[in-house]
Amino acid sequence: MKTLILVGGGHAHLFILHQLKNHKLDNVQVCLISTSTHQYYSGMLSGYAEGIFQQSEIRVNLRQLCKQAGVMFMQEKVEHIDPVKQNIVTLKGKEITYDLISFNIGSVLNTSHVPGADQYAMLIKPYDQLPQQIEKVRQSENVIIVGGGASGVEISLALQSWRNQHDIPNTVHLISQGNILHEVSKKATNIVTQRFQQVGVSLHQHNQVLRVEKDIVHVIHTQSKAKQTLPYDTLIWLAGVTASSIFKYHHTLETDEAGYLFVNNQLQSTSFSNVFGVGDCVSFKHHAHVTKTGVYAVKAAETLWHNLLAYVQGTDLKTYKPQRHYLAILSTGHRQALLKYGTFVAHGRWCWTLKKKIDTSFIKKYIE
Ligand SMILES: Cc1cc2nc3c(=O)[nH]c(=O)nc-3n(C[C@H](O)[C@H](O)[C@H](O)COP(=O)(O)OP(=O)(O)OC[C@H]3O[C@@H](n4cnc5c(N)ncnc54)[C@H](O)[C@@H]3O)c2cc1C
Repeated sequence: MKTLILVGGGHAHLFILHQLKNHKLDNVQVCLISTSTHQYYSGMLSGYAEGIFQQSEIRVNLRQLCKQAGVMFMQEKVEHIDPVKQNIVTLKGKEITYDLISFNIGSVLNTSHVPGADQYAMLIKPYDQLPQQIEKVRQSENVIIVGGGASGVEISLALQSWRNQHDIPNTVHLISQGNILHEVSKKATNIVTQRFQQVGVSLHQHNQVLRVEKDIVHVIHTQSKAKQTLPYDTLIWLAGVTASSIFKYHHTLETDEAGYLFVNNQLQSTSFSNVFGVGDCVSFKHHAHVTKTGVYAVKAAETLWHNLLAYVQGTDLKTYKPQRHYLAILSTGHRQALLKYGTFVAHGRWCWTLKKKIDTSFIKKYIE
């Protein structure tokens, strides 16, 4: 009997569990280890924050899905992997050996460059505390979000839209080191900057957070160098992600500088062929364009399924070719959204309707 360990309940592992419901593997015992019993779908977090979706609509019960798939479920945090001994160690000190292992653990929010951020900011990743966190945010007078990328923009507009509907006077503040969405396109920046005015989010562009204290955040304007402090009750940190420390621990798995697991086109570690990985937690040596978004984890899932089976059966592995362009839809509050595909950018209600259709049909497969 061989042991296949799936670490993390990310997008691709949901697909593997779904497949296992209908395809039992001979002589392979499968175990899923994840930090939480529920997997929240990031595409619908903003809709939840805005009060459009209920908790039950945006999360998958991993324990139940595992039961249906004949997979053992363990709620644990994996701390490190020793690929030479073929074992992993969990936070509670459990040592588990494997024949084959697959990682789909996402990334962690990066607070390392700003003193006090780790101690005082609310970190919504992993999402297992999300309902309590959203409740706290709703009751806070001064809410500041740090990070002008897609997630910071989505969450600030969602929280402000919720406040508008509930006639709450204080506006949400968003601090961005450069222009918001500068990595998307100039057109996206312009549309969303205008949207911030319509929805009523206070935008602090070109402001870098220097340090965080208990109730205030110190910022410096990157152009004028003027310093100021902003008070907060809740500070949400969405200023970029980094790698979990799991892979670097034994220095035997090849990773990139940040610590993301290097994988080849078959989704195998470049140093150990029985270690697979997908989604945010991996880097492709030859596909630098792959970004840390859920889309890549979703798209790699079928290849991962094929290759895990092929590895066990000793047959040919498939090649995964990450796409260059993908459809990105970002909710901008009050059931409107920004859509981007290649150089095409659009904004409106139809974009939100399309996003809702794509997101609900994705999650429906796993919560039935
Ligand atoms: C607010 C917000 C909104 C976003 N919206 C979108 C969007 O609309 N579309 C999009 O494509 N991307 C979006 N993203 C980005 C997206 O969240 C990630 O890119 C995506 O979730 C990565 O998917 P994944 O499958 O790699 O892992 P994840 O979805 O992050 O899942 C990782 C799983 O592994 C578990 N885990 C983590 N560490 C361990 C460990 N050490 N041991 C055991 N289990 C572990 C976690 O609990 C979790 O269950 C958003 C991000 C944020 C913060």
